[in-house]
Amino acid sequence: MRPEIKRAQHTIPVGASSPLRACRNVGTDPLVVAEAHGQYLHDVDGTRYIDFMYGFGPLILGHAPEAVSTAIAQQAANGTLFGTYCTQEIELAERITATADHLEQLRFVCSGTEAVMSTLRLARAYTGRTRVLRFNGGYHGHFDLVQNKDEARMRDSGLDPAAMRSNVFAEYNDAESVERAFAESPGEIAAVVVEPIACNMSLVMPEEGFLADLRRICDREGAVLIFDEVITGFRLTYGPASNLLGVSPDLTAFGKIIGGGTPVGAFGGRRDIMRLLDEERVLQGGTLSGNPLTMAAGLATLDALAQPGFYEELERKGALLEAAVERHRAEKGLDFTFTRTGSIFAFIFVPQAAPVRVKADVAAQAQSPYTTMYAGLRTAGYHLAPDIEEPMYVSAETTDETLEDFAARAVALLATDPNT
Ligand code: PMP
Repeated sequence: MRPEIKRAQHTIPVGASSPLRACRNVGTDPLVVAEAHGQYLHDVDGTRYIDFMYGFGPLILGHAPEAVSTAIAQQAANGTLFGTYCTQEIELAERITATADHLEQLRFVCSGTEAVMSTLRLARAYTGRTRVLRFNGGYHGHFDLVQNKDEARMRDSGLDPAAMRSNVFAEYNDAESVERAFAESPGEIAAVVVEPIACNMSLVMPEEGFLADLRRICDREGAVLIFDEVITGFRLTYGPASNLLGVSPDLTAFGKIIGGGTPVGAFGGRRDIMRLLDEERVLQGGTLSGNPLTMAAGLATLDALAQPGFYEELERKGALLEAAVERHRAEKGLDFTFTRTGSIFAFIFVPQAAPVRVKADVAAQAQSPYTTMYAGLRTAGYHLAPDIEEPMYVSAETTDETLEDFAARAVALLATDPNT
């Protein structure tokens, strides 16, 4: 083990400020990174790794893109925090709200967690109800209302049992389970919160009609429909993924990409709901919310994403990776699932014929193929997601050569694992 890891774990619980970074689920020591450029991470020894994790999703342009780094440096020289109105904030809010009709107003916060938390508070105030319907396998941040622990473990976890009991769970891709939940809690559910494309149980696509069913049920029941687009926002198209999926939520939570790799979240939607903030009936604040440093990084990022052909090129790379994985898999006669949309992808170790619709389908996969692949690819100079159910990302900096090499190596490693 590197001395820095021991040093980190002495002062910082698990050694880092977010738990998955400790790599406990993949049984390999975490990297200690000194700097990052393009598709590469450089560790403190100067060893180079090709990244497929990209900071859990924000770095769609790769590491330290010049335009974003320059914008951050220029803004830093002109002030990082004003504590009053600033044009960068107005500009970024206008650009984001311009991407979808349902985004009538928007506010910034500093994390995806805060963004979702604020949407839920708004939904509760708007409806006068308290319960929140969510989906097994979804992740919406680390606040009490969206945790997934059983009663016995709640107190051990420091969670508020009352907040926890506000959770109502249904199954992703199963509108019937949503109908049942509403029938069991009549008039109590304030909001349905969903990742429109599920990115925290590997990568699971919504089935035809599922999101439209949620829209219909929420309209009928008077509940607020919230899309958590912290990962998917600006990842698949210039704006929320709802633009591709054809269903409009009432509120949307953003994070990650819109801050260009700096701390960010944002939430927005219907003016008649956002108005509760204007009336100061609902509180959301934040010393650093909408700070000019983050806004400058976000604006420079959106400039790059708005270039013609940007998302088409990412799609080309994603398709190249998928084709390469399929080719090697067929050659080796392996049977596992590879899911991809645009530049998001995941390996799921269930047979291709098996359904991958709900959390249980993903949870049924064998664990050892991923651990084997993780360790082998680390040795070969790759950095992957530190958990089997986290998706991975292709960035604008990922080269075709990288994609071909990664696919060949990944499948060759999987062929060595008896559980693939
Ligand atoms: N929602 C989703 C869908 C996420 O994936 C995440 C984090 N990965 C969050 C919310 C929380 O965002 P943050 O880590 O910025 O608080």
